[in-house]
Order: sequence, then structure tokens, then C-alpha cells
Amino acid sequence: NPAVPTNFIQEIINEDFKTGKHGGKVHTRFPPEPNGYLHIGHAKSICLNFGIAKRNNGICNLRFDDTNPSKEDTEYVDSIQEDVRWLGFDWEDRLFYASDYYEQLYQYAIDLIQAGKAFVCDLSAQEIRDYRGTLTEPGKESPYRNRSAEENLDLFKRMRAGEFPDGSKVLRAKIDMASPNINMRDPVIYRILRSTHHRTGDQWCIYPMYDYAHPISDALEGITHSICTLEFEDHRPLYNWVIENLDLPARPQQIEFARLNLNHTVMSKRKLLELVRNHSVSGWNDPRMPTISGLRRRGYTPESIRNFCDRIGVAKSNSIVDIALLEHCIREDLNLRAPRVMAVLDPLKVIIDNYPEGQVEEFEGEINPENPELGTRKIPFSKVIYIEKDDFREDPPKGYFRLSPGREIRLKHAYYIRCESVVRDPATGEIIELHCTYDPETRGGWSADGRKVKGTSHWVSAAHAVDAEVRLYDHLFLDENPGENATLNPDSLVTLTHCKVEPSLKDVKAGERFQFLRQGYFCVDLDSRPGKLVFNRTVGLRDSWGK
Ligand code: ATP
Ligand code: MG
Ligand code: MG
Repeated sequence: NPAVPTNFIQEIINEDFKTGKHGGKVHTRFPPEPNGYLHIGHAKSICLNFGIAKRNNGICNLRFDDTNPSKEDTEYVDSIQEDVRWLGFDWEDRLFYASDYYEQLYQYAIDLIQAGKAFVCDLSAQEIRDYRGTLTEPGKESPYRNRSAEENLDLFKRMRAGEFPDGSKVLRAKIDMASPNINMRDPVIYRILRSTHHRTGDQWCIYPMYDYAHPISDALEGITHSICTLEFEDHRPLYNWVIENLDLPARPQQIEFARLNLNHTVMSKRKLLELVRNHSVSGWNDPRMPTISGLRRRGYTPESIRNFCDRIGVAKSNSIVDIALLEHCIREDLNLRAPRVMAVLDPLKVIIDNYPEGQVEEFEGEINPENPELGTRKIPFSKVIYIEKDDFREDPPKGYFRLSPGREIRLKHAYYIRCESVVRDPATGEIIELHCTYDPETRGGWSADGRKVKGTSHWVSAAHAVDAEVRLYDHLFLDENPGENATLNPDSLVTLTHCKVEPSLKDVKAGERFQFLRQGYFCVDLDSRPGKLVFNRTVGLRDSWGK
């Protein structure tokens, strides 16, 4: 199938089909930890896991990797489900939680203890680190390593029963303190932690570690290909050790791919949480956030995000993707679907002196020239209109083709107007209105005499305009590659409160998307109310991708 994008994971799967590994099945999972909202990096993993399953007639589970109760919350569980669905993926009846397996995980730990493959260790966290050794130096065995299976069993049961304080003991896999792979040096697989879990409450005071819980959860669900990011490559031997040393119902295989990094963007949930907590943003769904909920509120479509994920592909080495590609994808999508409207963001009043007082005309504007079937909308015109302040210069520089004293411009869909005079605020000297004349022979925006008018402005009729607030966004960080001490962009949000939009927008609902002619793509914000419209700029019109 030529429509199937080939990547190295698909090649592994093709090979597995040939050899009959995993019984010719593909069963993947997307395993978020509910400790934050999903971001665009997660979208890559979601598209990959659900996409690979779908293309290979397989299935994909949604599994909450909830083994770290202190950071997890049902708010995140709910938002994650909403975001995966919104992106267009469906786990059907396959919603799982690692916490569903706590009892089984505990029983498997008992199996390891009985087989002499796990032991209870009383070293402190610091001592464990000190004993672990380095890349060039082997580790030192714990003095508790040779406890008998009976003693370990007794201690582990008492750990569960709550007899020991937090951090006083751990259960460790007994593997190899001399392994060149530090993850194999008797890794901790259970810890004592008194923390209320969002699902199991205070039922447990011991919690399994990720490296132990993950392979078992995969095996219990019959996962065939356990796809994760590159940082886990060094953990694969431990993943395999767990699978090989327990009697599990399946033998999943871990495959690592390069995570998505985007310039001007932080993607660590810890850092995103910090932005929320210190009010650098209004919340996880602030339109400047790289979260799925932020992108949704900003005006991104699920299609544009899926398309972006297809285009960046799947590789085995890390790189940084230009955020301009993401912006290109939403522009491309909205160009085809967003209705065109006129909105004046920074209004300047224009009085058309020779236009009859009280007269109103209606012009027809195409809804989307890329999509003529969408038809037209009616745009009222009258004696007083608003144009963009920026579309007028009293002393036009060379090459400025918009309005200036004595010069003519075209009002989109309407008439040619000429600027006759300028009115200033006597106190501030600021230009507050223009007086113009119109040429009745140019109705529709063209003239029979063929005279040249280079500039075309958008406008709204003052008597018909609807007031709106418009929020313009820029990168949250000034740094191209924001690190630990990245600088917030002080202009990442600019709020314009006196915008005037055409009356066809009067009844818009949150989430609706438009192209404001000459300005960019905009989306109705969640804060928008009838009579108090609020728009977010999703992205400007100018495309910098590939430039
Ligand atoms: P963080 O480090 O920000 O906490 P995480 O990887 O711990 O992120 P999880 O909730 O565990 O977050 O992620 C769920 C899945 O999404 C994992 O399989 C993870 O590999 C994948 N994932 C997370 N971030 C990215 C990314 N930037 N690109 C691709 N996949 C990602
Ligand atoms: Mg994490
Ligand atoms: Mg994780």
C-alpha cells in the first residue's frame, strides 16, 4: 500500500508479520502518566501508536501509567481522554490503568522474591546511589542482597502492611551490580510511599516503579509492540529482564523512537506545570501553551496536528523541528476551510462626505475563494466606516500604496475612496478621523476607466460593526531553544480591546474559525460571549516555513 508511510517501526512490523512473531498481531498502547495535560509531543506518540495499529489491522489501548500518586490527578485523567478523542482516536473499550494491576504486580514481585530474584534493601536512597557505581566503575553489592527468600517475603509483606516508614526499605531486582548498564544494577522495583492515589486512595503504601510496572502492564494487555521514546533505550534490557523472568501471558517488544522537540517550545510537563503554577499563563489551555488543549483553544484543528505528525515522520535520532512547520500545517488547513471576514483590529474612523446620509448598501463577499460552493455573505456599507490605522499614512514613505492625503484606495468589495482631509484631536494631535470621498462609478471595487489603484483595504461599516477583543500571540519564550532558565517573551500576548468586526460575526460560538482578511486566522475564544466577542489569532497569514 503506497499510502502507508514507511518508517523503521513499520519495517519491524513487516518483518514480524513475515516471521509470525506475536502471532501476526499488532497491539499497541498509548501510556500517558496523568500528571499533566497532553502536549504536541504526546500527539506524535498518539498518532504513531493509534496510526500503526490502524494501518496494520491492529488495536491500540489507552493506558494511564499511574504509579506515581503524588503527582497524579483525575483532572489530568479526564483531560487526557478528551484530548485523545479530540485528536480523532478511539480506544473503544480498551481503557486501562496501571493501578488496575497493583495486586497482580504485587503477586509477580512475590514470584521474583521466591525465585531469589528480588530482595528487600534497607539502604537509604543516597546509599543506593553511592553503591550504584558509575559508567566506568562497577557498583557495589548491597549488604542486604543475600537475605533469604523467606526473610524477603516476610519483609515485603510487612512493607505492604505499612509496618515501615516511607523510604526506609525498597524492593530491588537482583540482577548484576557489575553490569555495564547502570539500569541493571539491582534496580529498585517497589518503594514505600504514603500518598493518596487518585484511584486506589490509601489502599497501598507501596508503589511499583515504572521500569517494573510497564513491561508487566504491557504483557497483561497483550501488547505486541511497546513504543516509547529514545531515553528508554537503556532501559530495554531491564524491560526484557522483567518479561523473561516472570511467567507472563505475552512477550511484548519495546521499540524506541525519537521524541518530538520544537524550537521556541518547552515540552516537559514539569516545566509546563511551573508556567501554570506561577501564572505565567492562564492555565494548561492557555493558547500559548504547546498542550493539545492550548492548541485547540488557539484554533488548531485535529487534522492539522495529525498532518503535522505525519510530516515530521518517525526517526531513531533526536532533532528539533521548526515550529513554522506546525504553523504551516494549520494555515494550509484553514486556508481551505475558514470563512473570510473583515475585521478591523486597530480602527480609524472614515467619513465619506459625498455618500448619502442614512443610506445603506449591501455588498456580497465570497465566503472562501478556495471553496466557491460555500457561497457569499452580505456586508453592509454606509457613510461612516472603520479602516485599519495602519492603512493610512499622512506622510507616506516611498512604496506605500495605501491611503494618504489626496490618494485613492479600494475598499474590498465596495468602492474606491480618496482621502480629502485629516481630523486631529486638538489635545493630543493624534489623528482621530479621516474625511474621504467615494467614486460611485467604482461599485464592487473596480472602475470602468481602468485607472490604477494599488492598495485594497478591509473595512467595516461603523453603524453595523460588532465590538470585539482580539488576542495576538507570539512564542512564549524568546530563546530559540528554551532551556532551564529560558526568558519569557513579554509580548507573547497582546490584547486589543477596541476591534470592530463585520456583523456576520455577531452570533459566533467558541471554537469557530475564520480568516480575517489580510490579518490571519482567528478563532473564537472560550471567554467569548454574545455582545463581548473574543478572538484568538491562531496564526498570521505569512508563511515562514521553508523560507
Ligand atoms: P514528560 O517528560 O514531559 O513528563 P513523559 O514522557 O514522562 O513526558 P508521559 O505521560 O509518560 O510523559 O508520556 C506518554 C507517552 O508519550 C510516552 O510513551 C512518551 O514516550 C510519549 N511522549 C512524551 N513526550 C513526547 C515527545 N516530546 N515526543 C514524542 N513522544 C512523547
Ligand atoms: Mg514524566
Ligand atoms: Mg513517562
